[in-house]
Amino acid sequence: MIHFEKVTKRYGDLVVLDELELKIAANEKVAIIGPSGSGKTTVLRMLMTLERINGGVIYVDGEPLTHMKQGERLVSADRAHLRRMRASIGMVFQHFNLFPHMSALQNCMQAPVSVLGLSKPEARERAVELLEMVGLGDKNEHYPAQLSGGQQQRVAIARALAMRPKVMLFDEVTSALDPELCGEVLQVIRKLGEQYNLTMLMVTHQMGFAKEFADRVCFFDSGRIEEQGPADVFFDNPKNPRTQQFLKAVL
Ligand code: ATP
Repeated sequence: MIHFEKVTKRYGDLVVLDELELKIAANEKVAIIGPSGSGKTTVLRMLMTLERINGGVIYVDGEPLTHMKQGERLVSADRAHLRRMRASIGMVFQHFNLFPHMSALQNCMQAPVSVLGLSKPEARERAVELLEMVGLGDKNEHYPAQLSGGQQQRVAIARALAMRPKVMLFDEVTSALDPELCGEVLQVIRKLGEQYNLTMLMVTHQMGFAKEFADRVCFFDSGRIEEQGPADVFFDNPKNPRTQQFLKAVL
């Protein structure tokens, strides 16, 4: 479903991703962990086409993300291609990023209407269903400022799902929340994993959740995957001394 093929990302002289090779199967749930500055968020931002690639190609569902095939050659994608590719990927950020002047319902209806061209009644029906699914069926008309952090984050998840993405990206979605509000967000993500055919990629500092949620854990260090494996094997028996050191510090 997703393939990073020798992807390099630089900021000036700083090499953030160094010929990264990463393949994620359809429906797979992958957790990305690692020290601060190791390139975890950059991986997600590149999938959202928020960052330019300096080398390599990212494929989503077999199609190059930011390029198009022209005969045998790859050329830069046009806007229509980028818009179509972006619509297949949903992202939830650390700081919710809801539109403050829109209700929960309006937040969830906006992109399906403006990007997918859904009618307002269609978008409303979809939004109502998703807000119910994230446990906020009684908060449709609330504005972000009237919701707790955990509730805002659940609206952000419903909003991303309203685009019916094939891939969901989560970037430290509980980092800005009080510990007691993390549980409700993680519960919604767990439910998504069980109920929807979604490929999920999650950057997290919560090792307990990574272990429980992920099929596979990738440990990043200095822009490379130092170690990866099934969650239970990875946490119970890490091989790489760098991984061992990291886990010892955070667990
Ligand atoms: P954290 O866990 O702290 O969020 P991370 O592993 O997600 O870290 P990234 O956000 O991917 O790390 O950043 C990787 C490196 O790239 C860092 O050294 C960061 O300072 C640098 N970086 C990120 N964005 C930019 C930018 N726009 N300009 C310059 N350097 C950047």
